[in-house]
Amino acid sequence: MKLQVSNTNAPVWRDIMVKSDLPSKLKPLEVMSRNLWWVWNSEGKSLFRDLDHDLWRATGENPVMLLQKLGFERLQEIIKDEDMMSRIEKVYADFKAYMKEPMRKDVPSVAYFSMEYGLCNALKIYSGGLGVLAGDYIKEASDSRVDMTAVGFLYRYGYFTQTLSVDGQQIANYEAQNFNQLPIEQVVDENGNPVILEVPYPGRVIYSHIWKVNVGRMNLYLMDTDFDMNSEFDRQITHQLYGGDWENRIKQEYMLGIGGILMLKKLGIKTDLYHCNEGHAALLNLQRLVDYVQEDKLDFNVALEIVRASSLYTVHTPVPAGHDYFDEGLFGKYMGEFPAKLGISWADLMNMGRENPNSDERFSMSVFALNTCQEANGVSWLHGEVSKKMFAGIWKGYSWEESHVGYVTNGVHMPTWAASEWKALYEETFGKDFFQHQSDTKFWEKIYTVSDEDIWNLRMTMKNKFINFVRRDFREKWLKNQGDPSRIMSIVDKINPNALIIGFARRFATYKRAHLLFSDLDRLSAIVNNPQFPVQFIFSGKAHPADGAGQGLIKRIMEISRMPQFLGKIIFLENYDMIVAKRLVSGVDIWLNTPTRPLEASGTSGEKAEMNGVLNFSVLDGWWYEGYKFCKQAGWALTEKRTFTDQSQQDKLDAATIYSMLENEIVPLYFAKNSKGYSPEWIQYIKNSIAKIAPHFTMKRMIDDYIDRFYDKEAKRSKKLVAHDYAVAKEIVEWKEKVAAAWDGVSVVSINETIDHNSPKTGEAYSTEIKLDTNGLGTSLAIEQVIYKVEDGIEKMVGTEPFKVVGHDGNIVTYELKNKLREAGVFRYAFRIYPTNVLLPHRQDFAYVRWI
Ligand SMILES: *Cc1c(COP(=O)(O)O)cnc(C)c1O
Repeated sequence: MKLQVSNTNAPVWRDIMVKSDLPSKLKPLEVMSRNLWWVWNSEGKSLFRDLDHDLWRATGENPVMLLQKLGFERLQEIIKDEDMMSRIEKVYADFKAYMKEPMRKDVPSVAYFSMEYGLCNALKIYSGGLGVLAGDYIKEASDSRVDMTAVGFLYRYGYFTQTLSVDGQQIANYEAQNFNQLPIEQVVDENGNPVILEVPYPGRVIYSHIWKVNVGRMNLYLMDTDFDMNSEFDRQITHQLYGGDWENRIKQEYMLGIGGILMLKKLGIKTDLYHCNEGHAALLNLQRLVDYVQEDKLDFNVALEIVRASSLYTVHTPVPAGHDYFDEGLFGKYMGEFPAKLGISWADLMNMGRENPNSDERFSMSVFALNTCQEANGVSWLHGEVSKKMFAGIWKGYSWEESHVGYVTNGVHMPTWAASEWKALYEETFGKDFFQHQSDTKFWEKIYTVSDEDIWNLRMTMKNKFINFVRRDFREKWLKNQGDPSRIMSIVDKINPNALIIGFARRFATYKRAHLLFSDLDRLSAIVNNPQFPVQFIFSGKAHPADGAGQGLIKRIMEISRMPQFLGKIIFLENYDMIVAKRLVSGVDIWLNTPTRPLEASGTSGEKAEMNGVLNFSVLDGWWYEGYKFCKQAGWALTEKRTFTDQSQQDKLDAATIYSMLENEIVPLYFAKNSKGYSPEWIQYIKNSIAKIAPHFTMKRMIDDYIDRFYDKEAKRSKKLVAHDYAVAKEIVEWKEKVAAAWDGVSVVSINETIDHNSPKTGEAYSTEIKLDTNGLGTSLAIEQVIYKVEDGIEKMVGTEPFKVVGHDGNIVTYELKNKLREAGVFRYAFRIYPTNVLLPHRQDFAYVRWI
């Protein structure tokens, strides 16, 4: 018999998952790794880092993975290291003390809904500013002990990581996250089995796991549909942030809003208020309506009063095109069953998402949000104004100036974004309790007591740390992806701590105008190649994979960065994330931002720079429009005046202004160095920016503003509405129904004016008497004179003058206005009838208006 050459069968693999078993002495590390508190606690963070520096970096600053990967020997070493053990004890004691403090009882509890959260780099559930803001907000809620529960998604692939090909093309990589290695906990039932949330979708139920992120004292609950109870089609709901087609988007927004409310119910969490961060989550109010109608057996209109009274919508987008709209067909496919659940018609539901009811407009998530939230706000003063205009069409009887849409300027969580070196200086100089008083400028003013030299040394420390970070973390990446080792080494060598380093990092959307700087390459070359006064630019940022123009911009910058005259002077750092962001905002000298006004709703990265002694040079848009006004000797601004309507002309002008400000003001100021090697004037600018600007842009200030402007007010009113079996809510609805029924029958009996239309003069008194047949509405109706001034062909609202009720005669009510012509000029006026009731929060709540 011929021998076989080989004979084998398949291996019998036996799976075993060895969990790292932390010695009991190290259990505090395990506990702390499951709470993101360390992200903003300097000692907590450095503790994890010092367990193993390389591993810390390799895991992307993920303490859970770090502990899993620490070898047995290293663990034994740590236990024997007395220093390390006492550090662990100290940090753990701090952590426990922090966690023990109770929530404030004097502020309402809030459920916060957001599509993304930027909390730390290890949790890739954010793409950019919106997410970082939401993450910062939850952290501050924890610090401020505001009882907040956050709702979002655990994405399998999150947002993409960016690499650049040799020719500068952006490559988007989606890496699956291993949930077992993340700083999260799965929510399980009393038997230890995963809790399964069931969310009814048309024709099927979609199941979701629930994960909890401990953010200090706060809980963030994340939904995840990517497991085998769901079809492939439905598993994708939580695959990507801002990925997929419109159908996937509506499935996501359905899950976030409807599923999010069902999740809170399942978890037994009830809050006073609901805060909708951007329109994505607005369907949460649809589910709340269903619950009131089906469970509390309320009439739809009463349910709507209650839902409205307890919800707030924050808009982040300054242009209508940036909002989500759904075609009626697609929307109907998913939402078709809701009208029956609510006792309304399909048209009623569609109209709640339309600026013009009964038109063929698509369903707008932001219009729906506005119709189901009593209050709404933009994210800076300027963006508030822009939002009032953007939404004016929804309340046609009122001019945009009268809109109830308010604003809260975005802030940043200082303990997260100030480098630990700066935090140490702040604590030492401002006092230990400074973190509780972040909005109080008196604390920050003490920065003037710090010596110039100390500030400069700190700045240089941070600059060198940043440069080392680039040398260490990017050299390898570049060698791998960008070829030509000699060029790469020369870039790395050229980064110069003595140069004025200017940072520009943000999403690469065209409106952010990253290209502006490159409109005159010769002039730019002269700026960066001045041997006495060297200047360097660092760019970073991702473009959305569907944004070809944005990716083109990155490619162009990469091309320019390779030109001999710009080599090592213009540097692009790929994969802008929270780690890169933190290095950049503390490591450069100037933070540059050049958006087209008013498209930067707020912007927050410049605020992070402020906390690190980095000066802003920016268009007067978003937050900087406010920030720059606090102190002009603390940064630089491109004027808000628009000279050209043509954008490319305006871009040219703005570019020229940037060059000339750099050449004539900024570079000379920076290099006016004294014998000690720094420019005292520059340090003065830094101190001014810390003392006068930074305190106004902390997350503490932001959460306080939300409480003062919205939360308190809404909580008070909604409590009133629901008391005694919803008595007040029912009263309001009864009244609104009565007004609505009688409205068309209201008529004007007479208008008598004494005003001299031929030659009116200032100081002249006039009176107007109007008699109305109120059709049974009595004094529920009010009248006012609405006055506009016309100047250079532009109409501007001056104000309104209320009429007084001076007589009744059955249905006939007499109104009178006595007034004076106070000011010379060209005016227009009209009279407006509107329903009035002290129970309404504002006019837009019931925007019935009749002009006469
Ligand atoms: C802060 C931050 C942003 C937002 O910055 P903008 O100024 O709003 O562009 C985006 N991405 C990351 C990673 C950030 O840390």
